Amino acid sequence: MKIKNNYIFGSGISALIAKYYNPSYVVITPDEEIGGQIKKHKNLLMTFHIHNHPLTKALLDELKIVYKEKRLRIYYVYNDKILESLDNKQRLNFIKNKMSEWNYDNNSVDFKDLNLSTTSNYLDILECDINELIKKLQPKEYIKGSIKLVNNNRKFFVYQDENKKLVTKNYDKIINTIPANLFFPMLYNYKNNYHFNYLPATFCLSSNKSSFMEDESMYYFYDSNLPYNRCQPYAGGYVYEATGIVDEKVLSKYIENITAVENRYVGVIRNENVDDFKHIKFLGRLAQWDSSIKIQNVIEKAKLISNIER
Ligand SMILES: Cc1cc2nc3c(=O)[nH]c(=O)nc-3n(C[C@H](O)[C@H](O)[C@H](O)COP(=O)(O)OP(=O)(O)OC[C@H]3O[C@@H](n4cnc5c(N)ncnc54)[C@H](O)[C@@H]3O)c2cc1C
Repeated sequence: MKIKNNYIFGSGISALIAKYYNPSYVVITPDEEIGGQIKKHKNLLMTFHIHNHPLTKALLDELKIVYKEKRLRIYYVYNDKILESLDNKQRLNFIKNKMSEWNYDNNSVDFKDLNLSTTSNYLDILECDINELIKKLQPKEYIKGSIKLVNNNRKFFVYQDENKKLVTKNYDKIINTIPANLFFPMLYNYKNNYHFNYLPATFCLSSNKSSFMEDESMYYFYDSNLPYNRCQPYAGGYVYEATGIVDEKVLSKYIENITAVENRYVGVIRNENVDDFKHIKFLGRLAQWDSSIKIQNVIEKAKLISNIER
């Protein structure tokens, strides 16, 4: 049987899940530490949750990772008032607020997508040690390198290895988890009209429980007097999230006892929904440029790819 030259680009959580269900693929990554963006930010300020779903449960069970089923209550605070349910106009305002920079007039944002990350008043999650998950999924062997070019018609790619040497490899199949805004400019033979628009985000950790917090819940805000649009308990404190780059000085006017502030240049994306190619599959929220993708969707697609190849 001919040995297949199948590769996974990247080593974030999507790539690790892809590798778990497609063990014959070889991971290529420039990461110093396996784990992608989760590992790039030491204090895990990106409030990463694993949703409670049969697929996520099955994966954690198979890996023997201990988890706790938890229901996070969600409150919507609309100009100082907690709403029990949202009508369409209010929903759109919450979304516009999240999709525009904190000091920008969000009335001038044209946004019709009514998909808030959740449509209910709670989020069911599996609380577990994400570092342990990454450790257990870490491949024994992988190629350290950074993809520089992909020729999808002639099926080869070029990567730069650790010694800055360019290496060419032919491929049969690729699972790409590199964010789409970085991947598509490297694609030699592809025309598209994609627009990978994004806004930065600021995450602020405080040791202080705010007076508005009745319990350990997630709060969304629509209030032009506040720089942040979401707050939730995380990593032993409370994480406030704002869209755009917000200065610590500004944040400290609204949030007491700040212990860390982190900026990400890609925080909020405008969905594009990247289509798969015949020999290249796109996996993960950023590779597919679709913020509705969750870990269960990544597992589902990774399994589907492995079934197709059988
Ligand atoms: C505020 C915030 C909250 C979030 N909350 C959740 C959540 O609750 N649940 C959830 O499922 N998701 C959440 N996400 C999305 C989350 O970021 C992803 O689900 C997950 O971390 C992305 O993993 P990934 O493997 O798809 O991408 P990444 O972790 O970004 O991995 C991409 C990989 O590609 C590699 N790469 C880049 N360029 C190259 C190159 N040239 N060659 C080779 N490799 C390359 C990188 O080094 C990296 O290893 C959140 C994101 C944000 C910003």
